[in-house]
Amino acid sequence: MRVPLSVADVELPPVEAPANLSFVTDPRASLRHLPSVEKAAAALGPEFPVLPRPLLVAVVQRELKGLRDSVLAGGAAIDPDSVEAHLRETLEAFALSRIAPVINGTGVLIHTNLGRSPLGASVGDALRAVATGYCNVEIDLDRGERGPRAGFLETALATLCEAEAATVCNNCAAALVLILKHLATGPRDEVIISRGELVEIGGGFRVPEILEASGARLREVGTTNKTRVDDYARAIGDRTAMILKVHRSNFSMEGFVESADTESLAALARDAGLPLVEDLGSGALFPTDALAPVEHEPTPAEIIGRGVDLVCFSGDKLLGGPQAGIVAGRQDLVRGVKRDPFYRAVRPDKLILTVLQETAALYLESGTRAGGMLPDVPVVRMLAVTEEALQERADAIASRLPATESVRVSVSPSTARCGGGTMPKAAIPSRALDFEMDPGLLGRWARRLRTGTPRVVGHVEEGRFRIDLRTVDPSADAVLATRLGEVLAEFGA
Ligand SMILES: *Cc1c(COP(=O)(O)O)cnc(C)c1O
Repeated sequence: MRVPLSVADVELPPVEAPANLSFVTDPRASLRHLPSVEKAAAALGPEFPVLPRPLLVAVVQRELKGLRDSVLAGGAAIDPDSVEAHLRETLEAFALSRIAPVINGTGVLIHTNLGRSPLGASVGDALRAVATGYCNVEIDLDRGERGPRAGFLETALATLCEAEAATVCNNCAAALVLILKHLATGPRDEVIISRGELVEIGGGFRVPEILEASGARLREVGTTNKTRVDDYARAIGDRTAMILKVHRSNFSMEGFVESADTESLAALARDAGLPLVEDLGSGALFPTDALAPVEHEPTPAEIIGRGVDLVCFSGDKLLGGPQAGIVAGRQDLVRGVKRDPFYRAVRPDKLILTVLQETAALYLESGTRAGGMLPDVPVVRMLAVTEEALQERADAIASRLPATESVRVSVSPSTARCGGGTMPKAAIPSRALDFEMDPGLLGRWARRLRTGTPRVVGHVEEGRFRIDLRTVDPSADAVLATRLGEVLAEFGA
Protein backbone atom coordinates (compact mmCIF):
# COMPACT_ATOMS: atom_id res chain seq x y z
CA MET A 1 0.00 0.00 0.00
CA ARG A 2 1.19 3.51 -0.74
CA VAL A 3 1.65 5.67 2.30
CA PRO A 4 0.13 9.13 1.75
CA LEU A 5 2.66 11.93 1.66
CA SER A 6 2.70 14.68 4.19
CA VAL A 7 2.08 18.12 2.78
CA ALA A 8 5.55 19.58 3.08
CA ASP A 9 7.40 16.93 1.11
CA VAL A 10 5.28 16.28 -1.88
CA GLU A 11 7.50 17.49 -4.70
CA LEU A 12 11.04 17.00 -3.41
CA PRO A 13 13.26 13.95 -3.78
CA PRO A 14 14.07 13.68 -0.07
CA VAL A 15 17.38 11.95 0.42
CA GLU A 16 19.22 13.60 -2.44
CA ALA A 17 18.23 17.07 -1.22
CA PRO A 18 21.39 19.17 -0.69
CA ALA A 19 22.24 19.70 2.98
CA ASN A 20 22.11 23.48 2.66
CA LEU A 21 18.42 23.40 1.83
CA SER A 22 17.68 23.22 5.53
CA PHE A 23 14.14 24.50 5.05
CA VAL A 24 13.19 21.16 3.48
CA THR A 25 11.84 18.81 6.12
CA ASP A 26 13.83 15.59 6.09
CA PRO A 27 11.31 12.72 5.67
CA ARG A 28 13.44 10.82 8.14
CA ALA A 29 12.21 13.16 10.81
CA SER A 30 8.76 11.68 10.27
CA LEU A 31 10.00 8.34 11.58
CA ARG A 32 9.25 9.55 15.06
CA HIS A 33 5.57 9.30 14.16
CA LEU A 34 5.85 5.53 13.90
CA PRO A 35 4.32 3.89 16.95
CA SER A 36 6.22 1.18 18.78
CA VAL A 37 5.32 -2.40 17.84
CA GLU A 38 4.03 -2.98 21.37
CA LYS A 39 1.80 0.05 21.33
CA ALA A 40 0.34 -0.64 17.89
CA ALA A 41 -0.23 -4.31 18.69
CA ALA A 42 -1.95 -3.43 21.97
CA ALA A 43 -4.22 -0.91 20.24
CA LEU A 44 -5.25 -3.21 17.37
CA GLY A 45 -5.25 -6.61 19.13
CA PRO A 46 -8.85 -6.48 20.38
CA GLU A 47 -10.13 -5.95 16.82
CA PHE A 48 -8.61 -9.24 15.65
CA PRO A 49 -9.61 -12.10 17.93
CA VAL A 50 -8.77 -14.66 15.19
CA LEU A 51 -5.13 -13.59 15.21
CA PRO A 52 -3.01 -15.15 17.98
CA ARG A 53 -0.92 -12.40 19.57
CA PRO A 54 2.49 -13.55 18.27
CA LEU A 55 1.09 -13.47 14.73
CA LEU A 56 -0.44 -10.05 15.19
CA VAL A 57 2.86 -8.75 16.59
CA ALA A 58 4.82 -10.32 13.73
CA VAL A 59 2.64 -8.67 11.09
CA VAL A 60 2.74 -5.28 12.84
CA GLN A 61 6.52 -5.58 13.17
CA ARG A 62 6.91 -6.42 9.49
CA GLU A 63 4.69 -3.53 8.38
CA LEU A 64 6.34 -0.94 10.63
CA LYS A 65 9.76 -2.08 9.46
CA GLY A 66 8.55 -1.79 5.86
CA LEU A 67 7.42 1.79 6.46
CA ARG A 68 10.68 2.68 8.17
CA ASP A 69 12.79 1.06 5.43
CA SER A 70 10.90 2.88 2.71
CA VAL A 71 11.53 6.24 4.36
CA LEU A 72 15.21 5.44 4.89
CA ALA A 73 15.49 4.37 1.27
CA GLY A 74 14.40 7.83 0.20
CA GLY A 75 10.65 7.35 0.16
CA ALA A 76 8.00 9.79 1.24
CA ALA A 77 7.57 10.91 4.81
CA ILE A 78 5.17 9.07 7.05
CA ASP A 79 1.73 10.47 7.56
CA PRO A 80 1.01 9.66 11.20
CA ASP A 81 -2.73 9.50 10.56
CA SER A 82 -2.40 6.82 7.92
CA VAL A 83 -0.21 4.41 9.88
CA GLU A 84 -2.97 2.93 11.98
CA ALA A 85 -5.31 2.60 8.99
CA HIS A 86 -2.57 0.85 7.02
CA LEU A 87 -1.89 -1.59 9.87
CA ARG A 88 -5.60 -2.30 10.28
CA GLU A 89 -6.04 -3.00 6.57
CA THR A 90 -3.04 -5.31 6.48
CA LEU A 91 -4.17 -7.21 9.58
CA GLU A 92 -7.67 -7.52 8.17
CA ALA A 93 -6.40 -9.08 4.94
CA PHE A 94 -4.11 -11.38 6.89
CA ALA A 95 -6.87 -12.45 9.31
CA LEU A 96 -9.06 -13.29 6.31
CA SER A 97 -6.39 -15.67 5.00
CA ARG A 98 -7.00 -18.04 7.91
CA ILE A 99 -8.80 -21.01 6.32
CA ALA A 100 -12.43 -21.16 7.40
CA PRO A 101 -15.77 -22.26 5.92
CA VAL A 102 -17.20 -20.33 2.97
CA ILE A 103 -20.64 -20.46 1.38
CA ASN A 104 -20.07 -21.16 -2.31
CA GLY A 105 -22.59 -19.20 -4.37
CA THR A 106 -20.54 -19.38 -7.57
CA GLY A 107 -22.41 -22.34 -9.04
CA VAL A 108 -19.07 -24.05 -9.67
CA LEU A 109 -19.34 -27.46 -7.99
CA ILE A 110 -15.69 -28.42 -7.83
CA HIS A 111 -14.18 -25.00 -7.20
CA THR A 112 -10.43 -25.42 -6.79
CA ASN A 113 -10.07 -22.04 -5.03
CA LEU A 114 -12.82 -23.03 -2.59
CA GLY A 115 -11.41 -26.44 -1.70
CA ARG A 116 -12.86 -28.57 -4.50
CA SER A 117 -15.27 -31.19 -3.11
CA PRO A 118 -17.09 -30.73 0.20
CA LEU A 119 -17.43 -33.92 2.28
CA GLY A 120 -20.61 -35.58 3.44
CA ALA A 121 -21.59 -35.07 7.08
CA SER A 122 -21.04 -38.72 8.04
CA VAL A 123 -17.56 -38.56 6.51
CA GLY A 124 -16.82 -35.49 8.62
CA ASP A 125 -17.98 -37.34 11.75
CA ALA A 126 -15.75 -40.32 11.00
CA LEU A 127 -12.83 -37.99 10.40
CA ARG A 128 -13.31 -36.25 13.72
CA ALA A 129 -13.43 -39.57 15.58
CA VAL A 130 -10.25 -40.88 13.96
CA ALA A 131 -8.37 -37.58 13.98
CA THR A 132 -8.80 -36.83 17.67
CA GLY A 133 -7.57 -40.20 18.90
CA TYR A 134 -5.50 -43.22 17.90
CA CYS A 135 -6.60 -45.56 15.13
CA ASN A 136 -5.77 -48.87 13.48
CA VAL A 137 -4.15 -47.35 10.40
CA GLU A 138 -1.31 -49.86 10.34
CA ILE A 139 -2.08 -52.58 12.84
CA ASP A 140 -3.73 -55.93 12.28
CA LEU A 141 -6.19 -55.99 15.18
CA ASP A 142 -7.04 -59.61 14.48
CA ARG A 143 -3.50 -60.87 15.00
CA GLY A 144 -2.20 -58.05 17.18
CA GLU A 145 0.74 -57.22 14.96
CA ARG A 146 1.73 -54.62 12.40
CA GLY A 147 -0.58 -54.80 9.42
CA PRO A 148 -0.88 -53.27 5.95
CA ARG A 149 -2.09 -49.69 5.58
CA ALA A 150 -5.51 -49.08 4.09
CA GLY A 151 -6.48 -52.69 3.43
CA PHE A 152 -10.19 -51.94 3.67
CA LEU A 153 -9.89 -48.82 1.50
CA GLU A 154 -7.84 -50.48 -1.23
CA THR A 155 -10.35 -53.31 -1.53
CA ALA A 156 -13.23 -50.83 -1.54
CA LEU A 157 -11.63 -48.79 -4.33
CA ALA A 158 -10.79 -51.87 -6.37
CA THR A 159 -14.40 -52.99 -6.04
CA LEU A 160 -15.72 -49.59 -7.13
CA CYS A 161 -13.34 -49.57 -10.11
CA GLU A 162 -14.00 -53.23 -10.93
CA ALA A 163 -10.24 -53.61 -10.88
CA GLU A 164 -7.94 -56.36 -9.58
CA ALA A 165 -6.28 -53.93 -7.19
CA ALA A 166 -6.07 -50.28 -6.19
CA THR A 167 -4.00 -47.98 -4.02
CA VAL A 168 -3.85 -44.33 -3.03
CA CYS A 169 -1.35 -41.48 -3.00
CA ASN A 170 -1.53 -37.74 -2.34
CA ASN A 171 -3.14 -36.54 -5.58
CA CYS A 172 -3.57 -37.51 -9.19
CA ALA A 173 -0.44 -35.61 -10.25
CA ALA A 174 1.58 -37.66 -7.74
CA ALA A 175 -0.11 -40.84 -8.95
CA LEU A 176 1.00 -40.15 -12.51
CA VAL A 177 4.58 -39.36 -11.44
CA LEU A 178 4.62 -42.53 -9.35
CA ILE A 179 3.41 -44.67 -12.26
CA LEU A 180 5.94 -43.09 -14.63
CA LYS A 181 8.82 -43.43 -12.17
CA HIS A 182 7.96 -47.04 -11.68
CA LEU A 183 7.27 -48.11 -15.24
CA ALA A 184 9.53 -45.87 -17.31
CA THR A 185 13.05 -46.39 -15.97
CA GLY A 186 16.37 -47.86 -17.02
CA PRO A 187 16.80 -48.89 -20.65
CA ARG A 188 13.01 -48.74 -21.12
CA ASP A 189 12.21 -45.13 -20.35
CA GLU A 190 10.11 -44.03 -23.30
CA VAL A 191 6.45 -43.15 -22.93
CA ILE A 192 4.32 -42.99 -26.07
CA ILE A 193 1.64 -40.30 -25.96
CA SER A 194 -0.52 -38.53 -28.52
CA ARG A 195 0.29 -34.90 -29.35
CA GLY A 196 -3.39 -34.20 -28.75
CA GLU A 197 -2.96 -35.17 -25.11
CA LEU A 198 0.12 -33.14 -24.18
CA VAL A 199 -2.09 -30.85 -22.17
CA GLU A 200 -1.99 -28.52 -19.22
CA ILE A 201 -4.50 -29.52 -16.56
CA GLY A 202 -4.35 -26.44 -14.34
CA GLY A 203 -2.27 -25.35 -11.39
CA GLY A 204 0.82 -25.72 -13.58
CA PHE A 205 0.26 -29.43 -14.25
CA ARG A 206 1.66 -29.92 -17.74
CA VAL A 207 1.78 -33.47 -18.97
CA PRO A 208 5.08 -33.13 -20.90
CA GLU A 209 6.77 -31.50 -17.90
CA ILE A 210 5.46 -34.15 -15.50
CA LEU A 211 6.85 -36.81 -17.81
CA GLU A 212 10.26 -35.23 -17.92
CA ALA A 213 10.33 -34.57 -14.19
CA SER A 214 9.65 -38.27 -13.67
CA GLY A 215 12.73 -39.14 -15.68
CA ALA A 216 10.72 -40.55 -18.57
CA ARG A 217 11.38 -39.80 -22.22
CA LEU A 218 8.53 -38.36 -24.17
CA ARG A 219 7.70 -40.03 -27.48
CA GLU A 220 5.03 -37.90 -29.13
CA VAL A 221 2.90 -39.40 -31.86
CA GLY A 222 0.18 -38.15 -34.18
CA THR A 223 -0.91 -34.54 -34.43
CA THR A 224 -2.87 -32.18 -32.24
CA ASN A 225 -6.20 -33.18 -33.77
CA LYS A 226 -5.60 -36.69 -35.08
CA THR A 227 -3.80 -39.69 -33.70
CA ARG A 228 -4.43 -43.22 -34.99
CA VAL A 229 -3.51 -46.61 -33.57
CA ASP A 230 -0.96 -46.91 -36.40
CA ASP A 231 0.87 -43.86 -35.09
CA TYR A 232 1.35 -45.61 -31.76
CA ALA A 233 2.31 -48.89 -33.41
CA ARG A 234 5.08 -47.30 -35.46
CA ALA A 235 6.56 -45.64 -32.38
CA ILE A 236 7.01 -48.85 -30.39
CA GLY A 237 10.67 -49.79 -30.05
CA ASP A 238 13.31 -51.23 -27.70
CA ARG A 239 13.10 -48.30 -25.34
CA THR A 240 9.30 -48.19 -25.06
CA ALA A 241 8.13 -48.53 -21.46
CA MET A 242 4.43 -47.84 -21.79
CA ILE A 243 1.61 -46.15 -23.67
CA LEU A 244 -0.06 -43.26 -21.90
CA LYS A 245 -3.48 -41.79 -22.52
CA VAL A 246 -4.56 -38.57 -20.83
CA HIS A 247 -8.27 -37.88 -20.59
CA ARG A 248 -9.20 -34.48 -22.03
CA SER A 249 -10.88 -33.53 -18.83
CA ASN A 250 -10.71 -29.76 -19.04
CA PHE A 251 -11.27 -29.04 -22.72
CA SER A 252 -12.93 -30.55 -25.73
CA MET A 253 -11.98 -30.67 -29.38
CA GLU A 254 -14.46 -30.51 -32.19
CA GLY A 255 -14.28 -30.70 -35.95
CA PHE A 256 -11.65 -32.69 -37.83
CA VAL A 257 -10.55 -34.84 -34.90
CA GLU A 258 -9.72 -38.48 -34.41
CA SER A 259 -8.16 -40.42 -31.59
CA ALA A 260 -7.33 -44.07 -31.22
CA ASP A 261 -10.13 -45.95 -29.52
CA THR A 262 -9.15 -47.50 -26.23
CA GLU A 263 -9.94 -51.11 -27.20
CA SER A 264 -7.65 -51.03 -30.24
CA LEU A 265 -4.91 -49.35 -28.27
CA ALA A 266 -5.27 -51.94 -25.53
CA ALA A 267 -4.93 -54.73 -28.09
CA LEU A 268 -1.81 -53.10 -29.51
CA ALA A 269 -0.28 -52.71 -26.04
CA ARG A 270 -1.12 -56.30 -25.13
CA ASP A 271 0.52 -57.66 -28.30
CA ALA A 272 3.63 -55.58 -27.65
CA GLY A 273 3.73 -56.61 -23.98
CA LEU A 274 3.44 -52.98 -22.87
CA PRO A 275 1.24 -51.51 -20.14
CA LEU A 276 -1.46 -49.08 -21.26
CA VAL A 277 -2.04 -46.40 -18.66
CA GLU A 278 -4.76 -43.74 -18.62
CA ASP A 279 -4.79 -40.57 -16.54
CA LEU A 280 -8.52 -40.07 -16.12
CA GLY A 281 -8.39 -36.93 -14.01
CA SER A 282 -11.95 -36.60 -12.76
CA GLY A 283 -12.79 -40.14 -11.79
CA ALA A 284 -16.57 -40.15 -11.60
CA LEU A 285 -17.84 -43.28 -9.85
CA PHE A 286 -21.39 -42.73 -11.06
CA PRO A 287 -22.99 -42.15 -14.46
CA THR A 288 -22.88 -38.34 -14.58
CA ASP A 289 -25.35 -38.15 -17.46
CA ALA A 290 -27.97 -40.06 -15.47
CA LEU A 291 -27.96 -37.37 -12.77
CA ALA A 292 -27.86 -34.14 -14.72
CA PRO A 293 -28.09 -32.93 -18.31
CA VAL A 294 -24.33 -33.24 -18.76
CA GLU A 295 -21.99 -35.35 -20.86
CA HIS A 296 -21.04 -38.86 -19.83
CA GLU A 297 -17.77 -38.86 -17.94
CA PRO A 298 -15.98 -42.19 -18.40
CA THR A 299 -15.77 -44.11 -15.12
CA PRO A 300 -12.63 -45.99 -14.03
CA ALA A 301 -14.59 -49.27 -14.31
CA GLU A 302 -15.51 -48.53 -17.94
CA ILE A 303 -11.93 -47.64 -18.85
CA ILE A 304 -10.51 -50.73 -17.17
CA GLY A 305 -13.22 -52.77 -18.88
CA ARG A 306 -11.92 -51.53 -22.24
CA GLY A 307 -8.55 -53.08 -21.53
CA VAL A 308 -6.53 -50.27 -19.89
CA ASP A 309 -4.02 -51.81 -17.47
CA LEU A 310 -3.79 -48.97 -14.99
CA VAL A 311 -5.83 -45.80 -14.39
CA CYS A 312 -5.24 -42.89 -12.08
CA PHE A 313 -7.74 -40.22 -11.02
CA SER A 314 -8.38 -37.57 -8.38
CA GLY A 315 -10.12 -38.13 -5.06
CA ASP A 316 -11.51 -34.61 -4.79
CA LYS A 317 -13.09 -34.04 -8.17
CA LEU A 318 -16.22 -35.93 -9.25
CA LEU A 319 -15.58 -38.65 -6.68
CA GLY A 320 -16.35 -36.05 -4.02
CA GLY A 321 -13.73 -37.09 -1.46
CA PRO A 322 -10.46 -35.69 -0.13
CA GLN A 323 -7.43 -34.64 -2.15
CA ALA A 324 -5.95 -37.96 -3.20
CA GLY A 325 -4.75 -39.82 -6.27
CA ILE A 326 -6.19 -43.25 -6.87
CA VAL A 327 -4.34 -45.87 -8.89
CA ALA A 328 -6.36 -48.88 -9.99
CA GLY A 329 -5.91 -51.76 -12.39
CA ARG A 330 -3.80 -54.88 -12.82
CA GLN A 331 -2.68 -56.45 -9.56
CA ASP A 332 0.99 -56.88 -10.54
CA LEU A 333 1.26 -53.24 -11.63
CA VAL A 334 -0.45 -51.86 -8.51
CA ARG A 335 1.82 -54.02 -6.34
CA GLY A 336 4.86 -52.78 -8.22
CA VAL A 337 3.83 -49.15 -7.83
CA LYS A 338 3.38 -49.64 -4.08
CA ARG A 339 6.82 -51.22 -3.78
CA ASP A 340 8.47 -48.29 -5.57
CA PRO A 341 10.60 -46.23 -3.14
CA PHE A 342 8.89 -43.07 -4.37
CA TYR A 343 5.55 -44.37 -3.09
CA ARG A 344 6.70 -43.66 0.47
CA ALA A 345 7.07 -39.98 -0.44
CA VAL A 346 3.52 -39.61 -1.74
CA ARG A 347 1.69 -41.85 0.71
CA PRO A 348 -1.36 -40.21 2.32
CA ASP A 349 -1.83 -39.95 6.05
CA LYS A 350 -4.52 -41.53 8.23
CA LEU A 351 -6.84 -38.50 7.88
CA ILE A 352 -6.99 -38.72 4.11
CA LEU A 353 -7.25 -42.51 4.22
CA THR A 354 -10.18 -42.26 6.62
CA VAL A 355 -12.03 -39.65 4.56
CA LEU A 356 -11.52 -41.57 1.33
CA GLN A 357 -12.51 -44.83 3.01
CA GLU A 358 -15.77 -43.37 4.30
CA THR A 359 -16.53 -41.72 0.95
CA ALA A 360 -15.93 -45.01 -0.86
CA ALA A 361 -18.18 -46.73 1.67
CA LEU A 362 -20.98 -44.25 0.89
CA TYR A 363 -20.87 -45.32 -2.75
CA LEU A 364 -20.75 -49.00 -1.91
CA GLU A 365 -23.56 -48.76 0.61
CA SER A 366 -25.84 -46.76 -1.66
CA GLY A 367 -25.73 -49.34 -4.42
CA THR A 368 -25.62 -46.57 -7.03
CA ARG A 369 -24.37 -48.78 -9.77
CA ALA A 370 -27.33 -51.08 -9.38
CA GLY A 371 -29.60 -48.07 -9.81
CA GLY A 372 -30.21 -47.69 -6.08
CA MET A 373 -30.30 -44.55 -4.01
CA LEU A 374 -27.77 -41.78 -4.45
CA PRO A 375 -24.75 -41.80 -2.16
CA ASP A 376 -24.69 -39.00 0.40
CA VAL A 377 -21.77 -37.33 -1.37
CA PRO A 378 -22.34 -33.56 -1.73
CA VAL A 379 -20.96 -33.30 -5.27
CA VAL A 380 -23.28 -36.08 -6.42
CA ARG A 381 -26.26 -34.53 -4.63
CA MET A 382 -25.53 -31.09 -6.08
CA LEU A 383 -25.44 -32.52 -9.59
CA ALA A 384 -28.70 -34.34 -9.04
CA VAL A 385 -30.81 -31.66 -7.33
CA THR A 386 -33.73 -30.55 -9.52
CA GLU A 387 -34.40 -27.05 -10.80
CA GLU A 388 -37.79 -27.13 -9.04
CA ALA A 389 -36.13 -27.77 -5.68
CA LEU A 390 -33.67 -24.94 -6.31
CA GLN A 391 -36.47 -22.58 -7.35
CA GLU A 392 -38.34 -23.34 -4.15
CA ARG A 393 -35.30 -22.66 -1.97
CA ALA A 394 -34.47 -19.47 -3.87
CA ASP A 395 -38.04 -18.18 -3.50
CA ALA A 396 -38.01 -18.99 0.21
CA ILE A 397 -34.78 -17.06 0.76
CA ALA A 398 -35.90 -14.14 -1.40
CA SER A 399 -39.19 -13.89 0.52
CA ARG A 400 -37.25 -13.40 3.73
CA LEU A 401 -35.23 -10.46 2.40
CA PRO A 402 -36.22 -6.84 3.08
CA ALA A 403 -37.20 -4.65 0.15
CA THR A 404 -34.78 -1.76 -0.31
CA GLU A 405 -34.54 1.24 -2.60
CA SER A 406 -31.06 0.63 -3.90
CA VAL A 407 -30.86 -3.15 -4.33
CA ARG A 408 -33.42 -5.14 -6.31
CA VAL A 409 -33.68 -8.84 -5.42
CA SER A 410 -35.01 -11.48 -7.82
CA VAL A 411 -34.69 -15.17 -8.63
CA SER A 412 -33.72 -16.24 -12.13
CA PRO A 413 -32.37 -19.18 -14.13
CA SER A 414 -28.61 -19.60 -14.06
CA THR A 415 -26.01 -22.06 -15.26
CA ALA A 416 -23.92 -24.10 -12.88
CA ARG A 417 -20.62 -25.69 -13.90
CA CYS A 418 -18.66 -28.72 -12.77
CA GLY A 419 -15.35 -26.87 -12.50
CA GLY A 420 -12.09 -28.35 -11.25
CA GLY A 421 -11.17 -29.06 -14.85
CA THR A 422 -13.98 -31.57 -15.24
CA MET A 423 -16.66 -31.78 -17.90
CA PRO A 424 -15.91 -28.35 -19.40
CA LYS A 425 -18.96 -28.43 -21.66
CA ALA A 426 -21.42 -29.24 -18.91
CA ALA A 427 -23.89 -26.39 -18.44
CA ILE A 428 -26.21 -27.41 -15.63
CA PRO A 429 -29.51 -25.47 -15.46
CA SER A 430 -29.76 -23.90 -12.03
CA ARG A 431 -31.32 -21.03 -10.05
CA ALA A 432 -29.71 -17.93 -8.64
CA LEU A 433 -30.61 -15.09 -6.32
CA ASP A 434 -29.91 -11.89 -8.23
CA PHE A 435 -29.02 -8.56 -6.68
CA GLU A 436 -29.24 -5.60 -9.01
CA MET A 437 -27.71 -2.33 -7.88
CA ASP A 438 -25.72 0.66 -9.05
CA PRO A 439 -22.65 -0.83 -10.79
CA GLY A 440 -20.48 1.36 -8.59
CA LEU A 441 -21.73 -0.55 -5.55
CA LEU A 442 -21.11 -4.07 -6.81
CA GLY A 443 -17.50 -4.39 -5.72
CA ARG A 444 -18.16 -3.17 -2.19
CA TRP A 445 -21.28 -5.37 -1.92
CA ALA A 446 -19.38 -8.49 -3.01
CA ARG A 447 -16.51 -7.76 -0.63
CA ARG A 448 -18.90 -7.20 2.25
CA LEU A 449 -20.37 -10.66 1.71
CA ARG A 450 -16.96 -12.29 1.26
CA THR A 451 -15.53 -10.85 4.43
CA GLY A 452 -18.45 -11.07 6.86
CA THR A 453 -19.84 -13.96 8.89
CA PRO A 454 -20.52 -16.35 7.28
CA ARG A 455 -18.25 -15.73 4.29
CA VAL A 456 -20.30 -15.76 1.11
CA VAL A 457 -18.70 -15.95 -2.32
CA GLY A 458 -20.94 -15.18 -5.28
CA HIS A 459 -20.18 -13.87 -8.73
CA VAL A 460 -20.91 -10.82 -10.81
CA GLU A 461 -22.59 -11.46 -14.14
CA GLU A 462 -24.14 -8.94 -16.51
CA GLY A 463 -23.92 -6.23 -13.89
CA ARG A 464 -25.72 -8.25 -11.22
CA PHE A 465 -24.40 -10.00 -8.15
CA ARG A 466 -25.56 -13.62 -8.20
CA ILE A 467 -25.69 -16.47 -5.75
CA ASP A 468 -26.27 -19.81 -7.45
CA LEU A 469 -28.07 -22.14 -5.06
CA ARG A 470 -26.91 -25.41 -6.62
CA THR A 471 -23.61 -25.14 -4.76
CA VAL A 472 -25.15 -23.97 -1.49
CA ASP A 473 -25.94 -26.75 0.97
CA PRO A 474 -29.64 -26.48 1.93
CA SER A 475 -28.60 -26.49 5.60
CA ALA A 476 -26.93 -23.11 4.97
CA ASP A 477 -30.05 -21.43 3.51
CA ALA A 478 -31.16 -19.93 6.81
CA VAL A 479 -27.82 -18.33 7.72
CA LEU A 480 -27.40 -17.18 4.14
CA ALA A 481 -30.80 -15.45 4.23
CA THR A 482 -29.95 -13.78 7.53
CA ARG A 483 -26.61 -12.55 6.26
CA LEU A 484 -28.09 -11.27 2.99
CA GLY A 485 -30.72 -9.44 5.04
CA GLU A 486 -28.02 -7.74 7.10
CA VAL A 487 -26.04 -6.60 4.08
CA LEU A 488 -29.20 -5.46 2.30
CA ALA A 489 -30.18 -3.37 5.28
CA GLU A 490 -26.73 -1.82 5.27
CA PHE A 491 -26.71 -1.04 1.54
CA GLY A 492 -30.33 -0.18 1.26
CA ALA A 493 -30.23 2.43 4.01
C1 LIG B 1 -7.17 -32.73 -12.46
C2 LIG B 1 -6.33 -33.63 -13.27
C3 LIG B 1 -5.08 -34.04 -12.79
C4 LIG B 1 -4.53 -33.56 -11.48
O1 LIG B 1 -5.22 -34.12 -10.41
P1 LIG B 1 -4.85 -33.67 -8.90
O2 LIG B 1 -5.58 -34.65 -8.06
O3 LIG B 1 -5.32 -32.28 -8.75
O4 LIG B 1 -3.38 -33.78 -8.77
C5 LIG B 1 -4.34 -34.90 -13.58
N1 LIG B 1 -4.79 -35.31 -14.77
C6 LIG B 1 -6.00 -34.95 -15.26
C7 LIG B 1 -6.44 -35.45 -16.61
C8 LIG B 1 -6.80 -34.09 -14.52
O5 LIG B 1 -8.01 -33.72 -14.98
